[in-house]
Amino acid sequence: MMERSFSEVLDDVKKNYFEITENIARAAEKSGRKYEDITFLAATKTVEPAVINHAVSLGLRYIGENKVQELLSKYDEYDLKNCDLQFIGHLQTNKVRQIIDKVSMIQSVDSVKLANEISKQSIKNSLVSNILLEVNIGREENKSGVLEEELDELIEKVSAMPNIQIRGLMTIPPVCEKKIEVCKFFDKMYKLFIDISSKKSDNVYMDYLSMGMSDDYEEAVLCGANMVRIGSRLFGSRIYR
Ligand SMILES: *Cc1c(COP(=O)(O)O)cnc(C)c1O
Repeated sequence: MMERSFSEVLDDVKKNYFEITENIARAAEKSGRKYEDITFLAATKTVEPAVINHAVSLGLRYIGENKVQELLSKYDEYDLKNCDLQFIGHLQTNKVRQIIDKVSMIQSVDSVKLANEISKQSIKNSLVSNILLEVNIGREENKSGVLEEELDELIEKVSAMPNIQIRGLMTIPPVCEKKIEVCKFFDKMYKLFIDISSKKSDNVYMDYLSMGMSDDYEEAVLCGANMVRIGSRLFGSRIYR
């Protein structure tokens, strides 16, 4: 297949962006909310900054990278006056200090060790870091995230740490053939989210339930997500160079 020209890519992104925002709005309304209640974050891995910034010019306000190296190499080119940069991938403890002052939220915290380092580096940088706790809701081996039954203990420990604030939950469910199957996982996440919110623990804020990607963001919103992370549906298939 021939690679698309730069202007064709920008046109595609524009068309995709408005399709996605319409779909999010429809799903939000179906679940008794408004478009504004849902945070549309673009997963920008492999996408060049000029293309990302084009999406920002259309109204995109949140972007997320999943690799430290890539985030750093693109950092100076993001239009960060107009969008908010988050970290959404697996984060190694020894790399926390490289991004701590560059992202507004780390979505993928799944261990006391990682949270401890985020807390430590946040103190050093005189800032408070927002984090989401990542849940391995499908109980898949070799997948990041804590198991449901480990969540309470993690919350208890992390919420006691200085300069770190739990803002919600994130998940990447198992790949499902049918949409009805993925909803089972989204429903479980929503239940956890509500259960934790209702406990009203100190320093635990359930503001965000981050779930739903290109193939299932509408289902996720219908199941109660208020943040979706969309990559290929917006930017096209990823080309790894
Ligand atoms: C890449 C990525 C996404 C988006 O994936 P798509 O299927 O391309 O929408 C969402 N979340 C994380 C953590 C990712 O790395």
